[in-house]
Amino acid sequence: MKKLLQGAAFSAGVILVWTLLEKIRGQQRMIRRQTEELADDRGTIKAITDNMREGLVVLTPAETVLSVNSSAISLLGAAQRNYLGQSLWALSRLPQLRETVSQALRGKAAGFSAWCGQRYCRFFASPVYQDRELTGAILLILDDTQRERSEKLRREFSANVSHELKTPLTSISGFAEMIETGMASGEDARNFARRITREASRLQTLIDDIIRLSRLDEQLPAPMGRVSLSAVCREVLATLGMVAESRQVSLSLSGTEVWARGNAGMIRELLTNLCENAVKYNREGGSVEVETRSGPEGMVSVIVRDTGIGIPSDSFQRIFERFYRVDKSRSKQTGGTGLGLSIAKHLVERQGGSITLESALGEGSSFTVTLPEWQENKCGELP
Ligand code: ADP
Repeated sequence: MKKLLQGAAFSAGVILVWTLLEKIRGQQRMIRRQTEELADDRGTIKAITDNMREGLVVLTPAETVLSVNSSAISLLGAAQRNYLGQSLWALSRLPQLRETVSQALRGKAAGFSAWCGQRYCRFFASPVYQDRELTGAILLILDDTQRERSEKLRREFSANVSHELKTPLTSISGFAEMIETGMASGEDARNFARRITREASRLQTLIDDIIRLSRLDEQLPAPMGRVSLSAVCREVLATLGMVAESRQVSLSLSGTEVWARGNAGMIRELLTNLCENAVKYNREGGSVEVETRSGPEGMVSVIVRDTGIGIPSDSFQRIFERFYRVDKSRSKQTGGTGLGLSIAKHLVERQGGSITLESALGEGSSFTVTLPEWQENKCGELP
């Protein structure tokens, strides 16, 4: 009987241990499954955040990195490596970032904007709560470089416009005052009146160019069609004939008949700008040669070559900027506004083309405009 009882107790013990082991195994399976699910979730979150253009950093209350996506690393200008568990300061040493993040970790959302190397970024730090307890902070970084650059250009442009308008206006009011007060009379007065007329017409040209640029900035759709480059070049050269003659500059047109896909008015305007410059910045007895060509692949080109003063190579990059002039006094003498080439570049790019420059000081310049070639099956409006 005793043996029987002992045997039964042993079996019960074995069953108990076995049940316990089963339970542990079950828990292990559950932990493994949960760990796998967690890893899957992490993988999914990482895949999502790594595809974001915005930078995202999740921080603990001790300012260590819990999660960081690759956009955040590149926007902060840090090296692409693993930052998990490291201090935020391994990623960036921006002083305002420290203040903003610690403010978020004190429970108050904060933000600022700053240049991070080549990029202008906006930073937003927000506290994270779990069951009303602050458990960390999230830092969102947005790339605002494009907007900041265009803002800067706009500010510079406004400052330049004010300056450019002020100069002729000051002259006009100065000359007018002298005539009004009787300080200038007779031939002097007539001379001043001539200068007023000249400055007023300079002002008019400047305002026309500024309005033209702002219209182009609006990116209004423009109708496009089949444009014969040779025909447009002939028209442009015909209108410049008298000016060129007065400066003793010869004009010629050569090349093959090619058709561009573009806007005839825009092409005429940009070629007029280039040819006018080629005459203006030429020397007595010089020449302007315009050539139309097929190519490169799917494109057609017009080359405007002159034998003028040339452009120094360090100005090649800036020559298409608004108000940039190599020689300010020569440009003003010839009634230039410093806007012609930037308008030309705008017009070319609006039609899907490009403009390049080659020049040697004292020898001449050559501007090449490349536009899409007309293809019968393609039509519509310019973007
Ligand atoms: P501008 O009204 O002053 O002519 P543009 O934008 O047309 O303005 O040209 C900008 C500057 O580029 C000019 O002031 C001049 O210094 C230079 N430039 C343009 N075209 C030529 C050229 N064909 N030869 C020499 N310099 C040129």
